[in-house]
Amino acid sequence: MDVCSRNPNRTSPVSEAGGGDQVPLCSRTNGWSWPPHPLQLLAWLLYLFFAITSLGIFIPLLPPHWLPAGYICTGIMLVGHLCVHVMAVSLDPADQNVRRKTTSGPVPVFDRSRHAHVIENCHCYLCQVDVGPKSKHCSSCNKCVASFDHHCRWLNNCVGRRNYKLFLNSVISALLGICLVLVSATYVFIQFLLDPSQLRTDTHFQVTNDTGLWFVFLPLAPVDSAGAVIPVLAAVTIGLGLLSCTLLSHLLGFHMYLMWNRLSTYEYIVKQRHRQGTRGASAKTPTRKASFYLIPVLNIKPKTQLQTPRHKCKSHGC
Ligand SMILES: [Zn+2]
Ligand SMILES: [Zn+2]
Repeated sequence: MDVCSRNPNRTSPVSEAGGGDQVPLCSRTNGWSWPPHPLQLLAWLLYLFFAITSLGIFIPLLPPHWLPAGYICTGIMLVGHLCVHVMAVSLDPADQNVRRKTTSGPVPVFDRSRHAHVIENCHCYLCQVDVGPKSKHCSSCNKCVASFDHHCRWLNNCVGRRNYKLFLNSVISALLGICLVLVSATYVFIQFLLDPSQLRTDTHFQVTNDTGLWFVFLPLAPVDSAGAVIPVLAAVTIGLGLLSCTLLSHLLGFHMYLMWNRLSTYEYIVKQRHRQGTRGASAKTPTRKASFYLIPVLNIKPKTQLQTPRHKCKSHGC
């Protein structure tokens, strides 16, 4: 039975209705812990797609004097993104007291009949340790995360104090890398329609007079390809690239707004929720609009999933 995937959208795990079925939940260490999330797999597939099509198909078709810049800039950005992405996924963002815990085992299910909140007075009843004033218990990871920002489904890991910069660098490098892929794919697409001979500068094209024959994975592992494959792949890459750039730009803009206002994603949503509560819920309020964009990207359900603000913390004075 896959106990870790239960209630994936909650921030505070609760006991089952009736309290009879008390299944212990295990906590996840990082983004590689089981179970994987479909969006995590999609992120890796998109990365592979952009890396293979740009380095293997589009850049080799660029004019010879563009090749060094194409390979170096795109390569650096793809490798850089790979490094920060892997680090953001691999790092355990848990509160330091949770990481220091010597005992490991099933985490108890939260019992609302005994406690009003998972964390009270900076003590987590599930992790069974004192935690920092900005730590929150993520139910997807089932552990307290230091300076909790949000649980990222694309990383399949929580984003907190320890990996927030890596997360941000991952977004920036992905955005820049996809922009470079878009440049090469757009050039190849337009040139294929205007003057395909300008793309056939590699030596492999000079040994054949068949202008309908194209190659992919030049120059090291050339594979014959039909001409139609090139513009179709370029069009698909441009479509996926524009969609990815739009989502990443929105996410980056949102986090720049949060940094400017010294807020975490969690605090922003709690604030919006509070505002919505005072104004009364309405389908046309900006909160609903913001939530519409945030939910798919940030995996936070403003109405049901967030913990209510905790009791005043005596030990930390928060
Ligand atoms: Zn906890
Ligand atoms: Zn989490």
